[in-house]
Amino acid sequence: MKILVINCGSSSIKYQFYSLGESRILAKGIVEKIGMKGSFLKHEKESGQKVLFEGEILDHKIGIEYILGVLSSVKHGCISSLDEINAVGHRVVHGGEEFSESVLITDEVVQTLEKFIELAPLHNPPNLKGIYAIKALIPEIPQVAVFDTAFHHTMPQHAFMYAIPYALYKKYGIRRYGFHGTSHRYVSNRACEILGVDPTTVKVITCHLGNGASACAIKYGESVDTSMGFTPLEGLIMGTRSGDIDMGAVSYIMDKEKIGTKSASVLFNKHSGLLGITGISSDSREIRAAADKGDERCLLAIRMFDYRIKKYIGAYAAGMGGVDVLVFTGGIGENSVSTRAGVCEDLEFLGVEIDSQINEGVRGEERIISKEGSKVKVMVVPTNEELMIAIDTQNIVYGKK
Ligand code: ADP
Repeated sequence: MKILVINCGSSSIKYQFYSLGESRILAKGIVEKIGMKGSFLKHEKESGQKVLFEGEILDHKIGIEYILGVLSSVKHGCISSLDEINAVGHRVVHGGEEFSESVLITDEVVQTLEKFIELAPLHNPPNLKGIYAIKALIPEIPQVAVFDTAFHHTMPQHAFMYAIPYALYKKYGIRRYGFHGTSHRYVSNRACEILGVDPTTVKVITCHLGNGASACAIKYGESVDTSMGFTPLEGLIMGTRSGDIDMGAVSYIMDKEKIGTKSASVLFNKHSGLLGITGISSDSREIRAAADKGDERCLLAIRMFDYRIKKYIGAYAAGMGGVDVLVFTGGIGENSVSTRAGVCEDLEFLGVEIDSQINEGVRGEERIISKEGSKVKVMVVPTNEELMIAIDTQNIVYGKK
């Protein structure tokens, strides 16, 4: 079964081409700078050999033409005809209250997604462009949408509501939706698989720490709370996003700085978080390097980052009445020894005891990093949203294996 997984951003398209039965990634790559000067396609073959194609990639449709072209090219491709693609799976950021799981894309689904553009004005439009492009270029091939929000559909109402006039929830759908759902679902299931436990018997907290960051409370296999909210701005401190902040401070800043909603959104989404505090970088590696050289603000940013995660772990353990498994994933969660150590410090009272020697050696691999007798199993599980999308796509188009 050959499945093409597509993740369309505003000016990029990431793709991975799977042969699922054989557990192979036949090719992967990225189209970047769509609609800008210097756009290109970077393609990587299964052998690891990379090829670069520069060209005028004016829109997402042309980008996808490039991808289909290279996949089926004699010189660099891995299929002799596009008919060999059995299905296409798309990452779609927002599925609103409508979609609680991945779906086969029909005209009706597309119409509903068009409605959700209001909820995710930055993310859903490029996702839709990818869907339209595939429909135009290879119309016979079934497409599936896999939503970032879907996994969090199981949150109880008392967890997803904001304490604002109820009418605003009804009128505009203002509530917590949560994001990174495909990642939280993948790493929590994979953690249980590694531990040999049934997900429906354990309480798991997953921390996806990348440029975007979120935590999720998963009780007996279902998401019951998550830190991102109506938008991906709420919750943990991120590369350039503030995470939680008092709304009173937001309106105060807007008044004082005489800025409107658009500028405020840029301020809290693009100039805040680690970048805002350090004034140097949004990249945790650069911040760590500067902190090691004595940069006070970088040290502060690191402490704030770790502390916010620790608070969420405490909150979710309380919310679920305990925690059995704690999982770290995302670029920082998978690779940063010191973040994992900083977050877990002083959590012994909860039953979290990491083995610092094991933690020290773990970068980007599946490992249990807690001590033998630790009540809570602490784990590193590299995320794999693309694989999850490929599996969902196969299951929906061809039935569950
Ligand atoms: P995105 O959310 O864009 O997918 P990633 O999951 O790739 O982002 O995470 C990016 C973050 O991961 C950056 O802050 C980067 O510094 C951090 N990171 C990546 N590799 C390492 C590493 N080896 N050690 C520490 N941090 C890392």
